[in-house]
Amino acid sequence: MYHSVDHCLEDPHLVTVTPGRFERQMRGLEAAGLRGVGVAELLAAKAAGRHRRLVGLTFDDGYADFVRHAVPVLARRGFTATVFVVTGEIGGRNAWDTGPRKPLMDAGQLRAAAEAGMEVASHGVRHVSLPEAGDDELAAELRDSRAHLEDLLQRPVPGFAYPYGNISPRVVRAVRDAGYDYGCAIWTSGADRHALARTYIGERDGALRMRLKFARHRFRQRRLR
Ligand SMILES: [Zn+2]
Repeated sequence: MYHSVDHCLEDPHLVTVTPGRFERQMRGLEAAGLRGVGVAELLAAKAAGRHRRLVGLTFDDGYADFVRHAVPVLARRGFTATVFVVTGEIGGRNAWDTGPRKPLMDAGQLRAAAEAGMEVASHGVRHVSLPEAGDDELAAELRDSRAHLEDLLQRPVPGFAYPYGNISPRVVRAVRDAGYDYGCAIWTSGADRHALARTYIGERDGALRMRLKFARHRFRQRRLR
């Protein structure tokens, strides 16, 4: 789980990986015989028993630096990834955040990312914590964000990522009932495809830490059906 890939001076929430570090992390995956893919592709491969050499890569919030600093590094290696977009802020900024403001991808950049083979999926309309949302607001966040992206990209949008990683049984059920094929959370057992566990990767993750995190994540995910 990544957020932003950029040169940055101020990063209080540790959501930014520098381009040099990101490049080394991807090179490390490649050297280990692994290939980064989006979550939809990973789940399809898992269903077919072809997932052993694959690693799911995700980027939350849809920062504009994704097209500049992540896509070229991924594309050079034949990797893909899923980017989770806040549809009410397309072309805007991360107004929900207390950290530094960063530009978010606009419609043209999202189409370019999709055309480069990246999976573009939903992160809700306004980046609200869903367990605290009422039923109507929850339904609208899930329905409207997906409709917006499907209209923009002219393709199905099967994936959702929970803002802040916050889930509850009601919210996970709502994502499934809204027709999403999968949902990405953070701290879960990983046994439910609508509450997939993810592992945070940051600037401090060098080769050894990457290997340890990969092994830990695989161990935790072994129960996914
Ligand atoms: Zn987010």
